[in-house]
Amino acid sequence: MTTHFSEEQIQQYAENIQGADDATKQHIHECEICWAKATNYVILFSEIKTAKKPVFEFALSELMPREAILSRRSFPWLPVSIVLVVVLVMAVLLAFFHDYFVYLLDGISGIMLYLIIPVCVTLFAAQCAEHIENYRKKIKNLEFY
Ligand SMILES: [Zn+2]
Repeated sequence: MTTHFSEEQIQQYAENIQGADDATKQHIHECEICWAKATNYVILFSEIKTAKKPVFEFALSELMPREAILSRRSFPWLPVSIVLVVVLVMAVLLAFFHDYFVYLLDGISGIMLYLIIPVCVTLFAAQCAEHIENYRKKIKNLEFY
C-alpha cells in the first residue's frame, strides 16, 4: 500500500515545484491521485496570483464611521498626556527626594553604575525597537495588498 502525500505537502510542492526533492517529484509524477491534487493546487495558486484586486462600486470612505476616520488622523493626545504626566510626577519626585536617591545609590560603586546603566539603556532601546517593528507589521497586515 502506498502512502500519499498530505494536503500540506502537496500544497508546498505546488507552490515550489523546482524546490521539491526528487522523491517528491517522482511520487507526484507516478501517483495519479497526488498528481491530480497538485495540478489543482498549481491552477488554484496561479489564479489567486493573477486575480484582479477587488474594486468597490461604492465609496467605502463614506460608509466608514466618521469617528474612525477622524481618530486615525488626529494627534494621540491621551497617550501623550499620560506620558507627560508620568514624566512630570517622576521629575517632581526626583527633585523632592533627590537626597534619598543619592543615598540609595551611595552603596553602589561607580564602576557598577557604568555597567548597569548601558545594559539598561540597551535593553530599553531593544524593547522599543521590537515594539515599533511589531506595530509596523500589524499596520502592514491591515493593508491587504
Ligand atoms: Zn500519492
